[in-house]
Formats: sequence, C-alpha cells, structure tokens
Amino acid sequence: MITATSNTRHLNPPDSTWQQHFAEAITDPAELLCALDLGSEWLAPAEAAAKLFPLRVPRSFVARMRPRDPADPLLRQVLPLGEELIETVGFGSDPIGESGYQQAPGLLRKYSSRALLVTTGACAVHCRYCFRREFPYEDQQAETGRWREAIASVAADPSIEELILSGGDPLSLSNARLNALTNSLKGIAHLNSLRLHSRNAIVLPSRIDAGFIDWVRSLPWRVTIVLHVNHAQELQGDALEALARLRTTGALLLNQSVLLRGVNDDAATLATLSRTLHTHGVLPYYLHLLDRVRGSAHFEVRESRALEIIESMTSALPGYLVPKLVREIPGAASKTMIVARA
Ligand SMILES: *Cc1c(COP(=O)(O)O)cnc(C)c1O
Ligand code: SF4
Repeated sequence: MITATSNTRHLNPPDSTWQQHFAEAITDPAELLCALDLGSEWLAPAEAAAKLFPLRVPRSFVARMRPRDPADPLLRQVLPLGEELIETVGFGSDPIGESGYQQAPGLLRKYSSRALLVTTGACAVHCRYCFRREFPYEDQQAETGRWREAIASVAADPSIEELILSGGDPLSLSNARLNALTNSLKGIAHLNSLRLHSRNAIVLPSRIDAGFIDWVRSLPWRVTIVLHVNHAQELQGDALEALARLRTTGALLLNQSVLLRGVNDDAATLATLSRTLHTHGVLPYYLHLLDRVRGSAHFEVRESRALEIIESMTSALPGYLVPKLVREIPGAASKTMIVARA
C-alpha cells in the first residue's frame, strides 16, 4: 500500500504530514459532538470537565467512532464527562507514587534492569482515565536539553539494560529528535534493549511514516514497541496500515490495555481485541487495572470482576493471547500480577 506519507515524502519537510494531523486534533467539545451528531446535552459537562484536563483527539480516531452513539467505546475514552468532577475517596493526583522514583530529571527508576525516560509530556490524544492527567511534567520531563543528565545517569548505572522511552508519548517527538536521543545512547555498552511505549502509533497512524520506520531499523538494540489499544474497534483503516508498516521493522510488537468500565469490561470484547491484535502481528502484554487518579472513578472495574474476565479469556484463548492482569502498587518491585486466591 502506498501511503500519502511515502507519496509526499519528497515534497514535504520531514515529519510535516503527521505533525499537521497532530495539530489538527479536535480540542473543542462542541466540534466533537457535532462531528458525531450527538445531542447538546453532552456539551455543558464536557466543557466543564475539559477545564480540568483538555479534550484532545485526532481526527483519524474520531473517524473510527460510530456516530450518534454516546456509548461508543472509543468516544468514552476521550469525551470529558460530568462524572470527572465528582471527588471520590481514594482517587488522588499521584496514584502510583511516581514522584519518589526519579533517578535524574525525567528518568524513573522503579524496577531492576530497566529505567523509564519521560521524553515529553505531549500525547496526540488525551485519555480521560490517564494517570498522567495530573502529572507535573514541567518538573519531571527530560525534554529540551535536559536529557543530558538522564542519559549520563543511564550511562553511569550498569544495572540498566533496557531503556523505555515513554511520556506522554515519545512519538510526539520528531524523527530528528528521536534520532538525536538514540545517538546519544549509542556509546552505552550495558544497554541492550530499547522499548517504546506509544499510543500515538494507533490514534495518529500517519505518525508511522517512512522516516520513523528508517529510524527504528537503524537502531543497534533489540527494539520492543508496546502499543496501547483498548478495543478492537480502534484497529481499522489507517491504524491497520500503520501496524503493517511497524511490522516491517522487525521490532517485537506488544500491546497494553487498561480495563475500563463501559469500554472493554467484558471477556468477549477483550478476546476480540486479543485476536485482532494477533491477526495484525501484535501480542497482548498487560491488562492494567485503573490507576486511581482523580476524576476517573467512573471507569473503575472491581478486582473480582476483572478476575472473572481473565478466567473466561483463559478458557477461550490460547495462553499467548491472554494479557497479564496487573496493578501498579507503589513500592512494589514490579507491576503486581492479580491472580485468583486459591
Ligand atoms: C511499567 C514501568 C516499567 C516497565 O515495566 P515492565 O514490567 O518491564 O513492562 C518500567 N518503569 C516504570 C517506571 C514503569 O512504570
Ligand atoms: S496516550 Fe497514554 S500517556 Fe497519553 S493521555 Fe493517553 S493514557 Fe495518558
């Protein structure tokens, strides 16, 4: 398939197509409701909740939603709702205690052998359930020249074998910035794996352009790309073309999802997601229980219900299509697997 991106590659400066799509995301609740032919009763709560965490959704993602359906599982992930304004006990601003794990500016060191670099606070989409909706990126992101200290810290710590580029979304950075970042990592002998955590790849498929593919192919490490897809309906049209391009890099492709009430909280929905991912060369990795960030309580699924879902997926699917059900517990040595008590 010849994409618009590769077609126009010689006409545009690098990255310009996706950067334009990024900038053209819908940020006005009225425009989103109008695009989906939804009633005006959604407008006032959407505008109020968007004041706490702005609406942002790329047009490609909106095109995968069903018009006139307020329960659409893709819409639910991005539409600000009045429920977000309800304070709920136990839901706060740093639910997973990230602020205590900085080894250098923007470098989070929670687990052995791997470290996570917050490359940018920006994402193409704003997910309403995001635990980073209250993240103080100004203090912690390693962006704009502040990578130097984080990279020096990785270089000085031989226990770090894998560096995870996260954010925000590392694919909000241009190919040139990504390349500059990885060039500065190339001298670090103990680093053997590079991982990217990205939702932009799915919500903004034009981001997976020829320059990005060339960059991934040029990397000297084992590369793993962990996507973030919550529902099979996200995997259509240009998103599938992006996955096909990603497969040509030879990177290991995994997916993490968040278990979200009203989006994907049943076994059939998640089994369809696993099968669809597999069809397109991606294996499920984690199914996260919600991080209890302020404004997201309406998305929470009880742990007992989550276990029922996993049990039912386990009997329906081959083992490699069942994601690990995990929760982030501050202070734990890894993500914590949730298993049924014997
Ligand atoms: C989730 C996470 C990782 C990666 O954990 P894996 O189990 O290796 O996927 C690394 N660092 C931080 C800070 C994380 O939150
Ligand atoms: S893409 Fe990831 S980091 Fe960005 S808003 Fe969504 S969940 Fe949060």
